[in-house]
Amino acid sequence: MNAGIAGITFAVSMLLGGNCVKREKGRKGKKRVCSFCVDKMEFIDYKDVPKLRKYITDRGKILPKRISGNCAHHQRQLTVAIKRARQMALLPYTVE
Ligand SMILES: [Zn+2]
Repeated sequence: MNAGIAGITFAVSMLLGGNCVKREKGRKGKKRVCSFCVDKMEFIDYKDVPKLRKYITDRGKILPKRISGNCAHHQRQLTVAIKRARQMALLPYTVE
């Protein structure tokens, strides 16, 4: 019986502890770099359709930055570029 209670207390403390610990810190492994930063691109051209196409899904939606790996700055530029390209009918709004 005692072992069961101890097990529960352990599980609870693990849960509470797990919530407090930030997993972001000390994370190592794959370093995700923004591909636009690598290319040192200041502005993303909305006419560069082949490049923009890599950042939309097959249904025409913009990839979130946690998938594309872009930094906030370039993700924003990309969103604007894709929206412009859509208005110019270079990219689809939705694909069926
Ligand atoms: Zn960037």
